[in-house]
Amino acid sequence: MKAFEYASPRTEAEVVQLLSAEPGKTEILAGGTDLVGLMKKMIVTPDRVVNIMDVPTLKSIDELPDGSVSIGATVTLDDILAHPYLDVYPAIKQAIRGISSMQLQAQGTLGGEVCQRPRCWFYRNGDGLLSQGVAEGANEFHAILGNSGPAKFVNSSRIAPALIALDAQLRVLGPDDAEQFVPLAEFFRSPQREGQREHVLAPNQFVSHIVLPPIEGRTCATYEVRHGEGPDYPLAAAAAALRLNGFGIVQDANVVLGQVAPMPWISQEAIAVLRGRKVDVALAEAAGEAAVSRATPLSQNEYKVQLAKVAVKRAILLAAGYETGGF
Ligand SMILES: Cc1cc2nc3c(=O)[nH]c(=O)nc-3n(C[C@H](O)[C@H](O)[C@H](O)COP(=O)(O)OP(=O)(O)OC[C@H]3O[C@@H](n4cnc5c(N)ncnc54)[C@H](O)[C@@H]3O)c2cc1C
Repeated sequence: MKAFEYASPRTEAEVVQLLSAEPGKTEILAGGTDLVGLMKKMIVTPDRVVNIMDVPTLKSIDELPDGSVSIGATVTLDDILAHPYLDVYPAIKQAIRGISSMQLQAQGTLGGEVCQRPRCWFYRNGDGLLSQGVAEGANEFHAILGNSGPAKFVNSSRIAPALIALDAQLRVLGPDDAEQFVPLAEFFRSPQREGQREHVLAPNQFVSHIVLPPIEGRTCATYEVRHGEGPDYPLAAAAAALRLNGFGIVQDANVVLGQVAPMPWISQEAIAVLRGRKVDVALAEAAGEAAVSRATPLSQNEYKVQLAKVAVKRAILLAAGYETGGF
């Protein structure tokens, strides 16, 4: 590991002051379950690490006057699972339970989960985020959607699809007391050149809170297709949030796929299929088909198309209150 300066600020303003405007010079440390491994392998080599775990204002879950729920970036995944305010957002708790690791859930934070770096093995082996090797082979866990540019990794966050489906916003802090609220749907991007991050944060900005709007009659669910039980990433996942009228007709829908594209993938095609129709198995299946209609699998990951289809279908059925059974 490269030697680095360690800072442990106590306020949000101090965090910002300690961050460099120059990419790669400083890194935020939350639970460290992702960052420390990357530093040990010299994939990430900051001069300064800024620990945000000792900032009290980042640690709580609060209900805001308008009924929104604000979650501090360093709230652990376990604390989210245990918190009654979040019972009305089952899609989030289902995604966290999928991690199936007491250690990661106790140590990992929500901010770190959303900002974690891609699990792409080319990247983790030091070949860069946009390695040409992906197109040549060993791409079975890579993207099937949004992969026409240089980025072919998949966004690793398990919780981001659910948060996007629920219209979450990030509170982002930066220099000169700048406070911005960024819809999570606009936070991720597909890097176009090596060194560009997978999100829009400037190097001297950080996420302080994640804000969920009131659930207001919507239902939601996450469905993951996994290898098996245990702390491994899903092969494909989807989150759905639906607003149904009294007759089960979809008034409003969000469908977001995970683990299939360089960013959580909002499926406008699936949403268009659902709007104004009554949810049943056939409609959920049609939405699944639509969600993968533009898929462009790589040489070894065509199998993910079927898994993504199933994830979308089952997330929609679960959100609409159907039992989906096992996979
Ligand atoms: C062996 C192993 C297996 C894993 N398996 C899974 C799994 O199956 N499923 C899964 O979802 N995850 C898995 N993970 C990843 C881990 O659960 C998540 O990465 C974790 O939630 C990250 O949280 P953290 O607080 O530890 O983040 P950290 O490691 O502290 O940070 C992760 C990244 O986010 C940045 N960051 C952190 N907080 C902020 C913030 N507030 N603002 C801006 N940037 C920030 C950091 O600089 C860093 O780049 C695994 C990790 C390991 C080591």
